[in-house]
Amino acid sequence: MILLLLCAMGAFIWNGSGLLQLVASEKASGLDPSVQVAAAALVLNVALILFGYRRYADLQQEAALRAEGERRAALQEATDSITGLANRKGFAEGVDALCKAKIDADHCLVIISLQMQRFKRINDRFGYEMGDALLKRIGEAMCADVPADAVVARLSGDEFGIAMAVDKDDLASAERLAEALLRDVSRTYDIAGTYVQVGAVSGIASAPPGTACRAADILRRADIALDDARSARAARPTWFDSGMEKALIERSELEEAIRIAIEHRQFIPYFEPQVDLVTGALTGFEVLARWQHPNRGLLSPELFIPVSEEIGLIGPLSELVVDQALDAAKAWDGDFSLSINISPAQMSDLWLAQRLVRLITEHGFPADRLIVELTESSLFADIDLARNLVVSLKNQGVRLALDDFGTGFSSLSHLRMLPLDMIKIDRSFMATVHVDRESAAIIKAVTTLAQALGIPVTAEGLEDAITYEKAAALGAHTGQGWFVGKPMNADGVADLLRRRSVEGEMPLRHTA
Ligand code: C2E
Ligand code: MG
Ligand code: MG
Repeated sequence: MILLLLCAMGAFIWNGSGLLQLVASEKASGLDPSVQVAAAALVLNVALILFGYRRYADLQQEAALRAEGERRAALQEATDSITGLANRKGFAEGVDALCKAKIDADHCLVIISLQMQRFKRINDRFGYEMGDALLKRIGEAMCADVPADAVVARLSGDEFGIAMAVDKDDLASAERLAEALLRDVSRTYDIAGTYVQVGAVSGIASAPPGTACRAADILRRADIALDDARSARAARPTWFDSGMEKALIERSELEEAIRIAIEHRQFIPYFEPQVDLVTGALTGFEVLARWQHPNRGLLSPELFIPVSEEIGLIGPLSELVVDQALDAAKAWDGDFSLSINISPAQMSDLWLAQRLVRLITEHGFPADRLIVELTESSLFADIDLARNLVVSLKNQGVRLALDDFGTGFSSLSHLRMLPLDMIKIDRSFMATVHVDRESAAIIKAVTTLAQALGIPVTAEGLEDAITYEKAAALGAHTGQGWFVGKPMNADGVADLLRRRSVEGEMPLRHTA
């Protein structure tokens, strides 16, 4: 466009000067046609210049508008629409700018990560509009607390991030600020006449002086500290330390190892014998999962069951163990029961009953010899779900036991709500039965009530002869524990049963 304008102006100067000479020489002799053509060209030139100028001005304006639009779009892209704070993208950009402007040998970058607690309840109870209004107010409260050059962002649903430059010798000031933030965001807010309140947890991390000031790395560390604060239910801000990162790496390695172990069938059943407390006769076995780790040997379920539950792998793991246990039970001479443990996390599987019934059918294992152990927490967390499972299993003839009784929150009256076949008193009561009169009184109360309801009681954790005798005297019918026999693998059971068939029925005693 500028080129066109310049050409037009060049032509104007050329034409104009020529025309002036012609006009001067033609003044006396009257206007020649060639002069008329030159005059027309000059007028055209003027029009071209005017057109060119207009077009140039329009383009300038258009470019300015486009630049403004792009600037606004970029700002919008980096801004959270609810709170008006930066979003994750804006936070990264803001922290980069902060690092360039403020971080030097004496100042380090500190990031505070804050997460609301029970925020979903506000949305559920009062609706999203109220939730949005609360987020906005929380954002405002944060901005009021932090230094002017701090970067404040809403990073996701109910998580906020604050980045700032802090004097390397006064990191405690960042902690004080995080404490103030925790206090201020969790105060009661009056939103259009409704009083709402949420809790909050906080993690803090800093880039040590002299290290790279990378927003993503420091935020990740602050988030790790936040996770730690959340699981510890910490009321104060938690600083990141490298041990947390190590634990996180170990945890993710463990998760990966569990996946591989399921694929390679490294989870195997161990069997803990259960006996009739009066006759001492063997009645059955409880199946307990073990991890036959290729390098670390035999690992306890306490290491892998909670993690498998959290990552949604307890179903396949449990199926693998029960399948092998049923397979081993085929070779047993005797109609022993097999008790299996079901985690609370498995209760939401609507096909659980069908899966278990399919397994026993495939192995030809009689349904009435299978006992499914459920804990109080899983039974009473969602009573309808539990009732469906219990009824489906009972319809197939499978028996149900309430495991670890006394450790959860259920009361004896709950026992009437579900058709249970057995109660297992937790080993924590048995461990103290001969020293603690309260434990004995509780066991007595449970066995008396269970007897009235026609439900047999199993005592767990019989570690010695005294506990064994005491459990029998207090009215428990069956028992298990190290005194009776430690958990053993399938070969151990085969061995035990072989000895039993040679030597006849014998009271089981722990000999190790
Ligand atoms: P639980 O079902 O209450 O199993 C009894 C636990 O007590 C077992 O621990 C057993 O080894 C231990 N024990 C037995 N007798 C004694 C004793 O005399 N003294 C002491 N101190 N302990 C004794 P284990 O095998 O480590 O299992 C721990 C828990 O892990 C089990 O508690 C159960 O809740 C869970 N679990 C084990 N296997 C499975 C499984 O296949 N699936 C599921 N969902 N949970 C399982
Ligand atoms: Mg159990
Ligand atoms: Mg138990």
